[in-house]
Amino acid sequence: MGGHIIEQPLPNVQMQQLDPFLLVHHAEWELKGNQKQQEVGIGGHPHRGFSPVTFVFQGDVRHQDSFGNDEIVKAGGTQWMHAGKGIVHSERPSAELAMQGGLQEIIQFWVNTPAAHKMAPPSYQPITAEHTPTLKAELYKIGVVAGEFEGLVGPAPTFSPMTLLRGVIKTKGSYKFELPSSFNTLIYLLDGGLNINGQNATRKDLIWLDNDGDAIEMTALEDTRFIVLSGEPINEEVSSYGPFVMNTQTEIMQALRDSQMGKMGVLIENFD
Ligand code: MN
Repeated sequence: MGGHIIEQPLPNVQMQQLDPFLLVHHAEWELKGNQKQQEVGIGGHPHRGFSPVTFVFQGDVRHQDSFGNDEIVKAGGTQWMHAGKGIVHSERPSAELAMQGGLQEIIQFWVNTPAAHKMAPPSYQPITAEHTPTLKAELYKIGVVAGEFEGLVGPAPTFSPMTLLRGVIKTKGSYKFELPSSFNTLIYLLDGGLNINGQNATRKDLIWLDNDGDAIEMTALEDTRFIVLSGEPINEEVSSYGPFVMNTQTEIMQALRDSQMGKMGVLIENFD
């Protein structure tokens, strides 16, 4: 692999999770080209009990899973999956990107699932940029991936109330918005710089806000790409191990056993 960065804004030294968000990874890779698809990305692996979600910012991500789904999502789109009781998937750049080379930039974050739905049937949904409702103004563009926001409704199905946004704001642009006071909210800057309610944040900063019902006002100090993850806390015990997120240690043991026994399915990847 050429030079790559993986940033892990969450968990961090101060915070294990910001309920219901368990993890946020920001990765940027330069693919050198002339590679086969099987040489790049992440091969088959299982998940249970939460939703791994990928926002694609540059390049693309091909998802294949043990239920036969096989979709490429390009820049501006989202790979959305409920792992439910178990699924095996792979996450790789497309064959075209592996061959031609170029940048792949993604943010993957994990959204916890309430206990009542952890063992629901798995589901998968690709969301393109075109199918992401977007607020557009001269100096900003904000895509609504999940939840209701400014009269737009994001297409991602969720098990608990949340609003997930991905935006771009240009220097001196300003945007003011409100989110339910019961939600936990985090803002992550992929690059650029923002003033958020009087405080400056710079690239790779993760800001978390105690929503007290007040508006959030952001002003761009430079051109900035950001995401907003905001959701109602689930307030349940979290027990996690590798790719499994459950409520108890016993459920984790069960997940390991079920995965080893092939109960989460088998993925035979297609490379054409
Ligand atoms: Mn995965």
